[in-house]
Amino acid sequence: MGGQDETLAFSELRAALGPVGFLTDDDIPVRNHADASVLRSQKPLAVLRPATTDEVSVALAIANRHRLPITTQGGLTGLCGGATPAPGSLALSLERMVGIEEIDGRAMTLTARAGTPLEAMQQAAEAEGFLFPIDFGARGTATAGGIVSTNAGGNRVLRYGMTRASVLGLEAVLVDGTVIGSPNKMLKNNAGPDLKQLFVGSEGLLGVVTRTVFALQPLPRWTGLALIAVRDFEDAADVLASARAELGPMLSAFEVMWPDYWAMVTENVAGRRDPFAERHGLYLLVEGHGRDGARDGATFEAFLEGIFEAGLVADAMLAQSLSDMEAFWAIRDASAEIEPVLGEHESFDVGLPPGEVGRFVEACRSELAKRLPASRAVFFGHAADGNIHVMASVEEPGPTGHHDVESVVYGVTRRFTGSVSAEHGIGALKRDWLGHSRSQAEIALVRSLKVALDPHGLLNPGKVI
Ligand SMILES: Cc1cc2nc3c(=O)[nH]c(=O)nc-3n(C[C@H](O)[C@H](O)[C@H](O)COP(=O)(O)OP(=O)(O)OC[C@H]3O[C@@H](n4cnc5c(N)ncnc54)[C@H](O)[C@@H]3O)c2cc1C
Repeated sequence: MGGQDETLAFSELRAALGPVGFLTDDDIPVRNHADASVLRSQKPLAVLRPATTDEVSVALAIANRHRLPITTQGGLTGLCGGATPAPGSLALSLERMVGIEEIDGRAMTLTARAGTPLEAMQQAAEAEGFLFPIDFGARGTATAGGIVSTNAGGNRVLRYGMTRASVLGLEAVLVDGTVIGSPNKMLKNNAGPDLKQLFVGSEGLLGVVTRTVFALQPLPRWTGLALIAVRDFEDAADVLASARAELGPMLSAFEVMWPDYWAMVTENVAGRRDPFAERHGLYLLVEGHGRDGARDGATFEAFLEGIFEAGLVADAMLAQSLSDMEAFWAIRDASAEIEPVLGEHESFDVGLPPGEVGRFVEACRSELAKRLPASRAVFFGHAADGNIHVMASVEEPGPTGHHDVESVVYGVTRRFTGSVSAEHGIGALKRDWLGHSRSQAEIALVRSLKVALDPHGLLNPGKVI
């Protein structure tokens, strides 16, 4: 497409969205050129900034009629190139569709427009005495529509599930402009197939999410956090089993950091110091959310005493204050700060059967050492979910260097029947590796769904499949 047809499409879009809602040429902000991934930035043909669901519907119908591809953008914090504009596509930004429409205390739900930042939803829920259960580092910028479309995970999946577990109702717009979905607040609703699931985690392939009803949780009144050093992953697995048995549903996070990650953070990142006197085999961050400080605090301490007595603990610290908690989490959340230390590198977000995590890390480390001896790698993640993050430097800058590291890490992941993406999604960067985790039949079914809902392949072209 181009020339006259594009001019016609642009004039229809400008008329539908107004000057604030349709940006071209030098008015296109640089932020709309790329998400937070390493994928090369790309200026879109134009930026569509609808303010309402009706405007999304009209804009998509115009683009569909003129066969103009569209890349949907939320907060642009995605890490796999999903929201970086495909070459020759329009960017559809939800940034003007911001706002919490309702908090229903009786139903314990929060209804938000797609562009609402995660942190705004957390704060609004807390002000009403509830917990918004999804949380991760990009909370200030990631949006409701983005977290739904990527089925985001984060630090508390162990307790509250992935985003999918908190989505009760959803409104989305199909590429032809059809508005679909409902503001469902019912936990139980088996009136036929649950169509909202088509849009949760499908990374904008099948429609544009415009509004979501999220389930809220009771606000914890007490939080316990312990930093625990252990010998190895076998001991970590026993600590996890004990935490599950003793803390039950209180257990809200179980994070693991291998010594390579620990050393890189505590030796290089300002403000992150090693609180232990000695180096250890593995570091755990164990968090409990409770309702009663005296009772739940005692349960948490009894769990710690139990693992000490079982000989599982090399050293441990219980956070005594909010600043202790922030300092402990700051070590776990320092992955962005070690990027300059690693230099050009690849970041991985693999999923493993939880029982295989320790063996996976050993196998991955030894395979990297054998095949790419100059690559430096660090390992950390959400051990209880089997979600491990690997950051590994490339031996030579450029695509070949990245492909070499990917081929080692994804090769080992496949051997362990793992997933090439536990939580960040596939986007553009992992598309060629999807076959390591999904069968040809599964990929063909996704293609069929895509053709059924978006026959001209206009939504997020080149992403996922
Ligand atoms: C510091 C940092 C920490 C992070 N930690 C985590 C973590 O712990 N867990 C985790 O899961 N992710 C994490 N991420 C990744 C990222 O924040 C999430 O994937 C987030 O959900 C993306 O939201 P967004 O609004 O920025 O979406 P974008 O980056 O704008 O888009 C992501 C994808 O969703 C699509 N999309 C966005 N909005 C819509 C919509 N309304 N309708 C249809 N499709 C849409 C886009 O086309 C794209 O494919 C982290 C990122 C950073 C930078």
